[in-house]
Amino acid sequence: MSTPDTTWNELVDSHRMSVQGPNDAIPDHQPKAAVLGCADARVSPSIVFGQPAGALFEVRIAGNTASPTALASLDYAVGELGVELLIVLGHTGCGAVGAAAAGICDGHLAPVVEPICDVVRKNPGASVDELVTHSINATVNALTQHAGPTGTAAREGQLMIRGAVHDLLSGQLEPTDPQPNPEPAT
Ligand SMILES: [Zn+2]
Repeated sequence: MSTPDTTWNELVDSHRMSVQGPNDAIPDHQPKAAVLGCADARVSPSIVFGQPAGALFEVRIAGNTASPTALASLDYAVGELGVELLIVLGHTGCGAVGAAAAGICDGHLAPVVEPICDVVRKNPGASVDELVTHSINATVNALTQHAGPTGTAAREGQLMIRGAVHDLLSGQLEPTDPQPNPEPAT
């Protein structure tokens, strides 16, 4: 039976077996895309997209909403690292969306669920998985309207923002086809 102690040792041993390097120099930080994904352990963006370390700038928060800290992190990816593609990655059966759908909108979960509760209020009767899609689209819109580098780049056509749902049953990735980003200014 595993305990926190044995799990820690297992993870450290696993790290030693899989560690790469040493490198001649610190690898460049040049991700090809940023992902705003759920913290759910089953939906690791790099695994979902089959990407190695260094390829994706991952910001993860339960329910994958545009929290202030998530936005600030994404602003770094867009403004400082020059990322041109941002993916909002949700998934079926999301616990954060389920909590919001059940009316759990305050207490210690509020920072996570409040943006989703807003989506729930605007879509009465929607199922959890329908709300997952609605919430992703709401997040894409919020990111596009953001006053910082992420929103500015999206509105100026220098950043594409896409939404997608990872279906935990089928394993498939379904684009949510949110409202299209504004056309490039040029
Ligand atoms: Zn989730």
